[in-house]
Amino acid sequence: MEALSPSQIDEFRAELTRRKAHLMSEIESKLAQARSERVAPDAVSVTDGGDKALLEAASGLDLAIASRDIEELRAVEAAEARITEGRFGVCVDCGEQIATERLRAYPSAVRCTDCQNELEHRSALHTSKL
Ligand SMILES: [Zn+2]
Repeated sequence: MEALSPSQIDEFRAELTRRKAHLMSEIESKLAQARSERVAPDAVSVTDGGDKALLEAASGLDLAIASRDIEELRAVEAAEARITEGRFGVCVDCGEQIATERLRAYPSAVRCTDCQNELEHRSALHTSKL
């Protein structure tokens, strides 16, 4: 597999920037919505510990609501860092070039299809033992 050309790298960089902007607005709106639901007048009472626990659970829940987006955002940022370091599109496990079609589908992919399948196979085996 040939290394990515500088123009392909530029394309991926632009795509990652778009994804990042999209994810940030997703996270922002989810957190804002969770926050506005939390301050609804009948949901907030400061008189007993039960409600305090409820509020703490709610703020953890806010993060849980956006956790998938936050995770993806981190992956996108890591991919941007790999572009800067000149390691973008190279499998972290075997060091081979990741297929361009795979990167088009998942610009933040860190493994080639073979290594990803291997990893999922291994973790599936691991999970079934539990
Ligand atoms: Zn690999």
